[in-house]
Amino acid sequence: MKNKKELPTVCVLGCGGFVGSHLVERLLDSGDYGQITGIDISDQKIRHLSGNSRFDFVKADAHSIELLRPSIEKSSTVISLVALCNPSLYTTIPLEVIDSNFTLPLEIVKLCHEYQTRLIHFSTSEVYGKTAMSLSDSSAMDEDGSIDRWVLTEDTSQLILGPVRAQRWSYACAKQLLERVIYAYGTSNSLEYTIVRPFNFIGPRMDFLPGLEGEGIPRVFACFMDALLFEKPLQLVDGGNNRRCFTYIDDAIDAVMAIIDNRESSRSQIFNIGNPDNEISIRDLASLMHQMYGEIRGKAYLRSSIGSISGKEFYGEGYDDSDRRIPDIRKAVDCLGWKPKTGLSQTIQLSMLSFIEHFKTVKNST
Ligand code: UDP
Repeated sequence: MKNKKELPTVCVLGCGGFVGSHLVERLLDSGDYGQITGIDISDQKIRHLSGNSRFDFVKADAHSIELLRPSIEKSSTVISLVALCNPSLYTTIPLEVIDSNFTLPLEIVKLCHEYQTRLIHFSTSEVYGKTAMSLSDSSAMDEDGSIDRWVLTEDTSQLILGPVRAQRWSYACAKQLLERVIYAYGTSNSLEYTIVRPFNFIGPRMDFLPGLEGEGIPRVFACFMDALLFEKPLQLVDGGNNRRCFTYIDDAIDAVMAIIDNRESSRSQIFNIGNPDNEISIRDLASLMHQMYGEIRGKAYLRSSIGSISGKEFYGEGYDDSDRRIPDIRKAVDCLGWKPKTGLSQTIQLSMLSFIEHFKTVKNST
C-alpha cells in the first residue's frame, strides 16, 4: 500500500523529450512533490536539472520493462510520455511507431495496474484523424458553416482514420487502441487513469534542428525554423491548407500540473489540451514566421523563400493528413480550472526566440 500522507512521488517516463523536460522542471520548481524519477534514453534536454537532489534520472530504454518496475511500484503517479510522435516516422518506420505507441506503453499500463499506481497517459489529438468535413460528405456540412461542427470533443467526436495503406494513420491507430485498453481497465475500476490528448504543443526544446542535434524531418515549427536559420525554403506540404491550433508549452504544462493536483476530477477522464483560439493554416504560419524572423533578426538575415512540395515527395509513400483540429476544452476548463493564456503571435514569437538563442549557442560550441 502506498503511503498517502507523504508528498506525491512522480515518475516521468520519457522525461528527456520536449514535454518531459518542461514537466520535470516544473515539478522540481514546486515544493508540493516528493522525489521525482525520470527515465529516458537521452538526457540532452535535461542536463541542466542533473544537480537537483530531488531528481533521480535513470538513463535507460523504456523497452527494458523490468527496469521500469521498481520506479512504477514506488511512485504514486506515473506520467507516460514514451512515444515516437513525428509524422515523418509514421510512414517510414511504422512498425517501430506502433511498438513505441502501443506495445511498449501497454506494458506500462499493466505495471500501473499491478501496482495500483495512478497513470497519466499522453495520447494524441491525432486520434481524431480527419474531420467529417474533409470526406466531402455534404451531410456533414452545416448549412451556416458553423465552426462548432469543426470542434473536437473528447467523449462524443468520431475518430476517423484513413485506409490501412495510408500508413500515416499507424500512429493514431496505435494510440487509439491503447486509449481503449486503458478505458477498459478503468471501467472495471481497477486502474486510476487520466488520458491527455495534446494539440500541437510548441516552445523551447521542441524537436530538433536536422543535422545539428538530430536527423530526419521534425514537426512543422522546427522545419520552418530550420529553413529560416539555414536559408532554405519553408516548404508548404500540399499547399499548406491544413490548419492546426498551436499551444504554448507553458500552458500545456499548467494543464498537466492541474491534472496531477486534481486527482478526483481528473479520474477516468480524457482531456483535450490545446488552445482553440490559436488556429492557423500552415500557409499563414509560414508567412507569419517569415515576417517575424525578419523583425527579430533584421532583414539582412531573411534569405528564405516560401516553397511548395507534395506530401508524397516530402514524407514518402503512404502520407495522409489531418485537415483541421480544434480542441473543445470545456471539460478541462470545468474539471481543472485551466485555460491557455498564450495567444498565437506570442506563442510563435517565444518559440522562435528560444530556437534562435539555442541555435547560436549550439553553433558557437561546434
Ligand atoms: N508541414 C508543412 N511543411 C513542413 C512540415 C510540415 O507544410 O515543413 C505540414 C504537414 O503536412 C501538416 C502540418 O504541417 O499538414 C503539421 O505537421 P506536423 O509535422 O507539425 O505535425 P501534425 O500536426 O501533422 O501531427
